[in-house]
Amino acid sequence: MKEKLVLIGNGMAGVRTLEELLKVAPDLYDITVFGAEPYGNYNRIMLSPVLAGEKTIDEIMLNDEQWYIDNHITLHKGKEVINIDRSAQKVIASDGTKASYDRLLMATGSTPFIIPCPGHELEGVIGFRDIHDVDKMLEAAKQHQHAVVIGGGLLGLEAANGLMQQGMKVTVLHLMDTLMERQLDSVAGKMLRKSLEDRGLEILMQASTKEIKGQDHVQSVLLEDGREIPAELVVMAVGIRPNIALAEKVGIHCERGIVVNDTMQTFDPKVYAVGECVQHRGQVYGLVAPLFEMGKVCANHLAKMGIGRYEGSMTSTKLKVTGIDLFSAGDFTGGEDTEELVFQDASRGVYRKLVVQDNKLKGAVMYGDTIDGSWYFDLMRDATDISDFRENILFGQAHLGDSGHGDENRIAMMADSAEICGCNGVCKGDIVKAITDKKLFTLEDVRAHTKASSSCGSCTGLVESLLAHTVGGDYSVAPHLKPLCACTEHTHDEIRATIKEKELKSIRSVMDFMEWKTPDGCSKCRPALNYYVMCAWPDAGSDDGQSRFINERAHANIQKDATYSVIPRMWGGGTTPEELRAIADVAEKFNVKTVHVTGGQRIALYGLKKHELPVIWNDLNQAGMVSGHAYGKALRTVKTCVGKEWCRFGTQDSTQLGIELEKMTWGSWTPHKYKMAASGCPRNCAEATIKDFGVVCVDSGYELHVGGNGGIKVRATDFLCAVSTEEEVLEYAAAFMQVYREQAHYLERTAPWIERVGLAHVKEQIVDDADNRVALAERFHFSQKFAQDDPWQQRAQGAEKHEFEPLKQLNA
Ligand SMILES: Cc1cc2nc3c(=O)[nH]c(=O)nc-3n(C[C@H](O)[C@H](O)[C@H](O)COP(=O)(O)OP(=O)(O)OC[C@H]3O[C@@H](n4cnc5c(N)ncnc54)[C@H](O)[C@@H]3O)c2cc1C
Ligand code: SF4
Repeated sequence: MKEKLVLIGNGMAGVRTLEELLKVAPDLYDITVFGAEPYGNYNRIMLSPVLAGEKTIDEIMLNDEQWYIDNHITLHKGKEVINIDRSAQKVIASDGTKASYDRLLMATGSTPFIIPCPGHELEGVIGFRDIHDVDKMLEAAKQHQHAVVIGGGLLGLEAANGLMQQGMKVTVLHLMDTLMERQLDSVAGKMLRKSLEDRGLEILMQASTKEIKGQDHVQSVLLEDGREIPAELVVMAVGIRPNIALAEKVGIHCERGIVVNDTMQTFDPKVYAVGECVQHRGQVYGLVAPLFEMGKVCANHLAKMGIGRYEGSMTSTKLKVTGIDLFSAGDFTGGEDTEELVFQDASRGVYRKLVVQDNKLKGAVMYGDTIDGSWYFDLMRDATDISDFRENILFGQAHLGDSGHGDENRIAMMADSAEICGCNGVCKGDIVKAITDKKLFTLEDVRAHTKASSSCGSCTGLVESLLAHTVGGDYSVAPHLKPLCACTEHTHDEIRATIKEKELKSIRSVMDFMEWKTPDGCSKCRPALNYYVMCAWPDAGSDDGQSRFINERAHANIQKDATYSVIPRMWGGGTTPEELRAIADVAEKFNVKTVHVTGGQRIALYGLKKHELPVIWNDLNQAGMVSGHAYGKALRTVKTCVGKEWCRFGTQDSTQLGIELEKMTWGSWTPHKYKMAASGCPRNCAEATIKDFGVVCVDSGYELHVGGNGGIKVRATDFLCAVSTEEEVLEYAAAFMQVYREQAHYLERTAPWIERVGLAHVKEQIVDDADNRVALAERFHFSQKFAQDDPWQQRAQGAEKHEFEPLKQLNA
């Protein structure tokens, strides 16, 4: 018989936990849900747009009643649980309904705080928490004219804006002298106040409520200073309190909230709690992102997987008032040991303040232009050292070269047909439809359903903005520690460390040791694990060909008509008559439709059939040519100019240097494609400053540049250092490649990797620490001993033959 799980609280955190649980252990429990509200499960965040008339209740339903039926969940809607018999493991609802449990999950949310001033119980005084409150406000807007909102925080301002949109004259009373003082500093608070007043809101600061006046129904609000404001509706939005009444009543330990540990268990180990009702490590939360993280961890433990701990969250804030852009995160007030970077352009209505401590970003407030909010938030969460781009940080990520993070306004104006994800050809309309139809909340979900942002990742910022724009709130905030994929709770870094430490040398052993949730993994984790195993154990790891992408299995690039292209390696971009003849012969013999010179100075043959590949490779091998790995997450090309040998400006022999670099690095597998270039002088004809590793020869030696990307989002390199000999160039090139190989996440190019970890981190390891540099270079060379086997030659000689044979034709 199945164990019984009972959920009290049919809100956002509780149901999210059930969704996570159903993903990992759909058949473990008989599930019963009690919800005091008479509905299925809806998106509470979107009550503000409903009030403002921008959405309907139907549009904000997350799981309708059919969902509970489909998932065999018993839903007792409109039934408040009033008691829990912990010794008999039973819950009892107000109408007498009882349910037994083996595990109980409490997700009772919060209750709005109502100031106990005289008159607070009058008809017409409400909080802003649920559908019922919104219905009352909409009703009041039809019948009455004046509304007072007490509280100029996030919720109060959203309520005030909504009521104003419904045609009411609204006065906001705020006790402090800054609106949203917990999220904004005084400058941003003033800017916000001005925009709201320009829209027609009346805002009274330092306004303390003395009494709510009226007979049966509210008529006005009296302030301590004697002012009296007419009001037929009063919305109290002065804060929320974790709803712990039931837990306290039945003896579950509570402080400000229900106290839980890192696995979301209360003091009664059979009782779990998630959401706004909990207190974790002294913190209570009032935004969904942390609650969803809690839900994930809790589901994992309910599923008896025993992995994953909730360690607390950093949150960020946005206001859902259309046309007002503000963002704040972290500790933006600062203190004696912090510094402030401030940008203010009053005429454009733009303000940014960043708080920095020890060259790490601690907090941010932005008003008017929030394009870089998610980037700043990532810098905070990853504790990135910003010293290398500190002077530009205020101007945003676009000024560092990569404009991957998009602006919500810009995204709102894009046509539905605008392409967001170039890699997978996904348009804005497709993503918005998936988010709305499938009720997606996170970047991971969008990736899983649409593939957008799942390849090169350079559109991640745009997808995040689109997500935030479509669903509102802070859904886009990814968990603090992102697991590699849905098959595991472990992060890329944890997996890599465990592979090394526990000497795991195959995908199977990693999955077994790290308790994979799926028997064989998925298309996301298998290639990553294969790479991580081979990178850690180049000599002894077992390379699983089936876990490689098709191009890497076939050692050629599959094209849109299912034919393949082949690119032989031409060292440093140079070639010979023999090589050209061999290429021409192959082209003629196999009736190649297109011969094309690539952007990386190589010659590509297009339109080849898969079964022809080994024969073609054999012919090319005969002429001394090997695979160019143009298909691989591997070293692709080293582009060169003609340098000193031919050019009037060349200071060094950049061509020969490029050849040496390519001979040293070819065959190496990397987290993503990897390109190099060497230019003979600062005119930089080989475009070395948009490559993963670029060398620019100068009079005094060689400048080394890293982290460039000429792809969808162009990023210029960061200057790493200058060296004076070719030997040093080669040593640094090997060390840089190895540090990237060992530390970047699979499918992360050098550009986003460096932005994530900071250039300072890279410099520390290969410029400042000579011993480490030498050790890295040695590990690189060791690894190359096993990598520099030409895959074309092996296959021309019969390896992996089955890959190139047509499927057998039955009844032939
Ligand atoms: C208008 C509004 C706008 C918001 N905007 C944002 C935003 O932009 N971004 C953001 O991140 N967050 C926002 N929030 C906060 C967010 O909605 C909450 O953090 C989230 O809903 C909390 O989830 P929860 O499951 O803990 O509580 P809830 O979603 O409140 O669910 C608790 C449920 O438990 C039920 N319940 C309580 N006691 C019992 C009982 N004894 N028996 C049965 N049922 C019971 C309640 O009726 C309720 O349905 C907003 C909230 C509101 C009200
Ligand atoms: S980079 Fe300098 S050396 Fe190389 S081709 Fe251009 S001008 Fe000549």
